[in-house]
Amino acid sequence: MGKILVIDITKCNGCHNCQIACKDEHVGNDWSPIARPQPLTGQFWTQVVDIVRGTVPKVKVAYDHTICQHCDDAPCMKACPNEAIYKRPDGIVIIDPLKCKGNKSCIEACPYENIIFYNDDLNISQKCTFCAHLLDKGWQEPRCVDACPTGAYTFGEEKDLKDLIAQSEVLKPELGASPRVYYIGKPRRFIAGTVYDPEADEVLIDAEVTIKNGKKGEKVTVKTDDFGDFWIDRLQKGKYSVTIQKKGYFKKELETDTTEKDINLGDIAMYMEKL
Ligand code: SF4
Ligand code: SF4
Repeated sequence: MGKILVIDITKCNGCHNCQIACKDEHVGNDWSPIARPQPLTGQFWTQVVDIVRGTVPKVKVAYDHTICQHCDDAPCMKACPNEAIYKRPDGIVIIDPLKCKGNKSCIEACPYENIIFYNDDLNISQKCTFCAHLLDKGWQEPRCVDACPTGAYTFGEEKDLKDLIAQSEVLKPELGASPRVYYIGKPRRFIAGTVYDPEADEVLIDAEVTIKNGKKGEKVTVKTDDFGDFWIDRLQKGKYSVTIQKKGYFKKELETDTTEKDINLGDIAMYMEKL
């Protein structure tokens, strides 16, 4: 048990308040023995990362977040020859700024990107502390969590957040590092398009679009909306067959591959069956 952080990507509006609050708390402030001052530039202990998905006009934007995962089996701890990295009883992983000798092996060992930064002026590695200096003063949550206006961040005791954890995923679970940061709504893949009748020069409303991925056993059916559009989101990577049907029209069949990216099938023409 101990502290965990749940980040709900679907609630983030990209305001960057979390990123700014972290800077406000740590730049120029010495919270030794938890953390020495973060430099003004070059470090983001948490960062909002814009992910633009699809192609115009079928575009979605999601806001992902980097932050130390406070792993229970933390590779950075094992890599430090000076035993400067330790885990507190509440699960928080700290790089002791007084013991760190600037060896940098933790930066290589961390399996996640842009988590540990090197401070060239102080010759130490630095990263998110879950604002342990504030928690030790009685704060219920770190600055970044406190600053989020949409409730995208939830911080608390693992035992109290079981329901949220059940809806979440962790990063790179195959590594077995046992992260203490959970994510809800991480972007997956979508297939989108617009169905129209070129002879009538009209979009087709209520056309039935079915996608199937035989290997993954996935099958989803939706109807086109009032603009002839369809969006099928949260798909796995892989090949999909797409079937579009509307009474009185020839069936349309397509193949598509979401392995590398989201798919905008563009404008799809359907032709009326002639008697
Ligand atoms: Fe260490 Fe990286 Fe895990 Fe943070 S995310 S505890 S820096 S291994
Ligand atoms: Fe920064 Fe504190 Fe948030 Fe970590 S928990 S990213 S140190 S504000």
